[in-house]
Amino acid sequence: MEQANRKNAKCAVSKRCGGCKWIEKEYAEQLSAKEKQFRKLLAPYCKTEGIIGMEEPAHYRHKVHAVFGEDRQHHAISGIYEEKSHRIVPVDSCYIEDAEADAIIVTIRQMLRSFKIRPYQEDSGYGLLRHVLIRKGYVTGQILVVLVLRSPILPSKKNFVKALLAAHPQITSIVINVNDRDTSMVLGKQEQVIYGKGYIEDVLCGKTFRISPRSFYQVNPAQTEKLYTKAIAYAGLTGTETVLDAYCGTGTIGIIAAEHARNVIGVELNPEAVRDARINARRNQVEQIVFYQNDAGKFLEDMARQTPARQVDVLFMDPPRSGSSEAFLRSVAVMKPRKIVYISCNPLTLVRDLDILRKAGYTVKKAVGVDMFPYTDATEGLCLLSRTASE
Ligand code: SAH
Repeated sequence: MEQANRKNAKCAVSKRCGGCKWIEKEYAEQLSAKEKQFRKLLAPYCKTEGIIGMEEPAHYRHKVHAVFGEDRQHHAISGIYEEKSHRIVPVDSCYIEDAEADAIIVTIRQMLRSFKIRPYQEDSGYGLLRHVLIRKGYVTGQILVVLVLRSPILPSKKNFVKALLAAHPQITSIVINVNDRDTSMVLGKQEQVIYGKGYIEDVLCGKTFRISPRSFYQVNPAQTEKLYTKAIAYAGLTGTETVLDAYCGTGTIGIIAAEHARNVIGVELNPEAVRDARINARRNQVEQIVFYQNDAGKFLEDMARQTPARQVDVLFMDPPRSGSSEAFLRSVAVMKPRKIVYISCNPLTLVRDLDILRKAGYTVKKAVGVDMFPYTDATEGLCLLSRTASE
């Protein structure tokens, strides 16, 4: 009974939300289960070096998203989509989300009535406010609020900003994002900064990064620092290497690696992230780095055609959940980097890609799990591969 109460204290809606599959497990138990899973999955490739856990595994998400809607009585509600549906589970505070971000979302919801703003309703297409997205810097504490609207006009915009800032003076920027499409994507393309700079900055491994609303940034900055530190240690850079940072996002890994390498090339598909990456390189006075906006597979195919093998010494690759592409992996086999550091948020596509890389002449040397998502069943994996064949 006592245990049941404790579970409820963490989250009352976990069943409907479905985000935290492991909300009922003690943290130590979660870590050992993840460690075991990862060890088993990697067993055909190498021994794993355990799992890197969090010291305080609560309220770690620094990117928080709430969907807005109305209940049957037409009261505004905000929260999380019910698992595998478009019904909204009302949530005011979430055990894994940043508490300040959650409080801002509640304030926005409470402000709607007096500003005569109605949440968007998917069925009728009526209403204005679809989502609120909040990003908070872990070290800087900067807070960006993105109001996702169906159309670009926010009534009494100035007063809305004033009232929100009065309630939460910690907010450093507010952006309107317009999403008028019938889509499950949260953010649309059109943006208007209505307060502050339009992005946050945060510090990771001693470097400062600017992150725009649509750029990827790891949701758990405390663990990201551990992940990157380990990834760079795995690469064993000596200052003479040419490094390729594939799927580089805002350039984080490449910029942190640059001081240990001769030069770095970054490639990323999202133009907004590439723009951030270039600004981030300048901001951190990293000169020996260039970024290309392209599909990583296409970019590597071109590179494999144009440059002789072994021009790249170390490849960092950090693909999305779907893993890397055939074109990418085929080109790696031609380019033959000495080492590959593979960062993966999906162990299943990781082992699929490891199989291909093994056939292309690589051996998996080391692997470690990093717990980026406590209370969920997800594990981030990090692997070091090196060339087996000497040619
Ligand atoms: N290394 C970065 C980003 C990792 S997330 C970091 O740690 O912050 C994966 C990144 O891959 C995202 O930025 C996404 O925009 C990008 N991406 C997705 N598909 C891609 C593709 N086909 N080619 C290049 N980049 C891609």
